[in-house]
Amino acid sequence: MTTTHDNVAALAPRQCPACGSREALAPVKNVSLRARVGDLEQTVARLTGEACGVCEETFLDDASSVRYGEALDGLVKARREAEGEELKRVRKKLGLTQRDAGLLVGGGPNGMSRWERGTVEPPQPVRTLFGLLDLHPDLLQDALGANLRARAEEAVAALPQVRLRRRGQAMAHAAQSVKSASGSASTPLHPGVMAASKKKDEARRPAGKARAAKR
Ligand SMILES: [Zn+2]
Repeated sequence: MTTTHDNVAALAPRQCPACGSREALAPVKNVSLRARVGDLEQTVARLTGEACGVCEETFLDDASSVRYGEALDGLVKARREAEGEELKRVRKKLGLTQRDAGLLVGGGPNGMSRWERGTVEPPQPVRTLFGLLDLHPDLLQDALGANLRARAEEAVAALPQVRLRRRGQAMAHAAQSVKSASGSASTPLHPGVMAASKKKDEARRPAGKARAAKR
């Protein structure tokens, strides 16, 4: 492992921050380290810093830390892109559009596109499903069928709630009209209050109409 000198202030000169050994650090130059992300590797050469003679940990100086970090970032990006390419290959093999594949695995309308371009790492379950479908393309119809069934069940489960919400809204509308009717009858001595509540009603009405028109 390679770390940077964050807690160096609390240590004696040449004391190792990793194992605590004193008089253990010595400067190192031209060190090569392997940066590793998953099964991707890259050698980062000509690094400088200090190494511990006891636990063999290397501590990079700032410039070398930045270079090593950039190599790691590059590997992360390369892995995302490789995963995206793999998703795209399997999707095309299955004859699915990005939209169809998105409906199958979720991730929103642009999810598939973002995964394939390597902008975002595809979630593990999506990679697993595509890996499975790559090996057994005949499972696609089952997967699509299961997905359709799940969606239908979700839709059915949502139905009673929709009805309840509608009834709730209707009751709220009824309460509102009772309120405004009594308001106009009972407060003749406060024209300001009346005007304000009237304005509120006017502001509310078009929204109510729009809501009703949507259905
Ligand atoms: Zn050490």
